[in-house]
Amino acid sequence: MIDCRRASELVSQSWDRPLTRREKFGLRFHLLICAACRRFERQLALMNRVFKRGEECPPEPMPVEVKGRLAERLDRAIQASTPPQSQEGNRPPRSE
Ligand SMILES: [Zn+2]
Repeated sequence: MIDCRRASELVSQSWDRPLTRREKFGLRFHLLICAACRRFERQLALMNRVFKRGEECPPEPMPVEVKGRLAERLDRAIQASTPPQSQEGNRPPRSE
C-alpha cells in the first residue's frame, strides 16, 4: 500500500515516464481511496496542459513548496471554473 507522498511522486512521474504495472496498480488503488491525491492528479494534468501551451517545460523539477503553492492556486482556479452540479436532472419521475 503506498502513501500520499509516494502517490504524488508517481502522479508526477507518470508524466515523464510510463509507470510499471505495479506502480500503476498502487497508484490507482490509492487514488480510489484518497480524494486529496485525486485532486492532485487533476491539478497536475491541468498544470501540464498550461506548460505545454506556454514556452518549454522547466528543465529541473520544481521544489515541493512551489508545487504546493501552484497547486493551491490551480485548485482555486478549478473550483472557480467548475459550475456547481445542478440537481435538475435527478428528479424522480412523477407517480401520478
Ligand atoms: Zn493520498
